Amino acid sequence: MLTIAVSKGRIYEEALPLLAEAGITPIDDPKKSRKLILATTRPDVQLVIIRATDVPTFVEYGAADLGIAGKDVLMEHGADSLYEPLDLGIAGCRLMTAARVDAPPISGRIRVATKYVKTAQRYFADLGVQAEIIKLYGSMELAPLVGLADCIVDLVDTGNTLKANGLEPRELITNITSRLVVNKAAMKMKHQAIQALLDQLETTLAKR
Ligand code: AMP
Repeated sequence: MLTIAVSKGRIYEEALPLLAEAGITPIDDPKKSRKLILATTRPDVQLVIIRATDVPTFVEYGAADLGIAGKDVLMEHGADSLYEPLDLGIAGCRLMTAARVDAPPISGRIRVATKYVKTAQRYFADLGVQAEIIKLYGSMELAPLVGLADCIVDLVDTGNTLKANGLEPRELITNITSRLVVNKAAMKMKHQAIQALLDQLETTLAKR
């Protein structure tokens, strides 16, 4: 049995057609079912649909053989413990700094609100900017509006969320897409099954 951990939401929606090309379609719709483990049309493959930040943890500990997660989550987790053989090219967006439209350019010591603490620390350290990072779990856009932080580090897709809150994107940290990750032990123990799946996905991606 191969277990694939998939991030909930947009990543799951965009991964479905890719998985379908490899013959993997969940039998129950996770929106309608309360099941946490989804059987699929391939009897040897099951899916677990979980919070994005939990995907690398499940794969690292071998609770899932494979995972589909955003590069943002993998960077923050520290992906040394996982193989990352495929860029799936789905759920594309940008990891950016953003600030109030009326805020001056970043200078001196700044406060940054984000859920990407390690990534933000690394980014500002590389720039030589002294940044105090404040960990938030959601609604990052609020922080500059109420004086909690000078800027935020967050994912930007259309930019509409920033705009609706009087913020604007500033610096691009990195482009983000979802990646397939593999547990290192599973890659050895279940090599044939995993390699076959990688090949199928790669063929599908090449056609896109
Ligand atoms: P947007 O308003 O289109 O720029 O989208 C920004 C909001 O959607 C932010 O709250 C982001 O955290 C979230 N978001 C955008 N793209 C993604 C993605 N690929 N994966 C997860 N969250 C995303």
